[in-house]
Amino acid sequence: MKVLVINAGSSSLKYQLIDMDTKAVLAKGLCERIGIDGKLTHEGKKEEKYKADVPMQTHAEAIKAVIDILTDKEWGVIDSMAEINAVGHRVVHGGEYFADSVLITEKVIKAIEDCIPLAPLHNPPNLIGIRACEDVMGKGIPQVAVFDTAFHQSMPQAHYMYALPYEYYEKYKIRRYGFHGTSHKYVSQQAAEMLGRPIEELKLITCHLGNGSSIAAIDHGKSVDTSMGFTPLDGLPMGTRAGNIDPAIIEFLSEHENLSAKEVIDILNKKSGMLGVSGVSSDFRDLDVAINEGNQRATLAKAMFNLSVKKIIGSYIAEMGGVDAIVFTAGVGENDRSVRWDVCEHMEYLGVKIDPEKNKYRGKQMDISIDWARVRVLVIPTNEELVIAQDTERLVKEAGKA
Ligand code: AMP
Repeated sequence: MKVLVINAGSSSLKYQLIDMDTKAVLAKGLCERIGIDGKLTHEGKKEEKYKADVPMQTHAEAIKAVIDILTDKEWGVIDSMAEINAVGHRVVHGGEYFADSVLITEKVIKAIEDCIPLAPLHNPPNLIGIRACEDVMGKGIPQVAVFDTAFHQSMPQAHYMYALPYEYYEKYKIRRYGFHGTSHKYVSQQAAEMLGRPIEELKLITCHLGNGSSIAAIDHGKSVDTSMGFTPLDGLPMGTRAGNIDPAIIEFLSEHENLSAKEVIDILNKKSGMLGVSGVSSDFRDLDVAINEGNQRATLAKAMFNLSVKKIIGSYIAEMGGVDAIVFTAGVGENDRSVRWDVCEHMEYLGVKIDPEKNKYRGKQMDISIDWARVRVLVIPTNEELVIAQDTERLVKEAGKA
């Protein structure tokens, strides 16, 4: 079975065509500047990348460009659109409606629309991507929605509630949802495989550390806590996001800087985190360069990040009553050895100890703990697209549509 994985943003659309028999990525690419002019980058048949200006006024035109290049004689990897058996879409917010991925129907689309107030920037383009595929590929092609929030729907209520008046939960569904669910799910399953034990026996802490970062506590295969909350602004300080702060700061800043609440939130989302503290960059590689040059604020920003990761790991060990493995994934988690080292330092008393030699590797699936460590520290490159494709295959087969 061949599955087309789509991740649609407001003016961009990422795609991968995956052969589920071999798990091989046949082709992948990116449509950018949709609605402005249109640019297509595609990799597949050849070593080199295909890059071209392709007019894309709408997402449907972008999908059409994707199908055209996938079936192109020179650059394509399939002969016709009929070879695509199903489409899997990344959808950011499934609210309390979806605890798993789902085959898309009109009822599902309505529920995703109902979640727009919870993810006003993400769910609308995700829906546009679904409609665009329907328009270009026809209603006959099965489509599946895979939600960033679904994996965390297993959290017990005491873990997902905020201590606000209960009526706001009832009225607006204000609660912790958590994000990066596909990534946490994937790396936890990989971790169980690496440890050679069923996931139902394990207590895992998965650290998805990238431009956006979140940590999850996964007890017996189920997410029981996670650091992102009602929105992806909660939890760790990130590239440009503040993470967890005293909410009273919002009113204070609003008054003293003469800003609306929306403007303050914008600062918390786009001008804070590593960028805000360091004044250098949101990118950890740039921070490392600045740190090596003796930049104090870059050093401070990274120390704050590492401390926050450590604090959350500690709280999850307490919550779960132990941990079997700590997993690092995503851009920073997979590549930045100083983050992994600093986070796990002084945790020998818990059975956590990284081997400095093994920690030198980056971007590679491996166990980086020293031999005697009771808790294994694992680096596992994430693969959200593969989870989307696997869920799509599973649901399409279950529905007898393949
Ligand atoms: P992601 O959001 O998972 O794509 O992660 C992106 C972030 O990973 C970038 O902003 C970088 O800060 C970080 N990153 C990527 N490669 C490296 C590396 N080799 N060393 C340190 N950080 C890296």
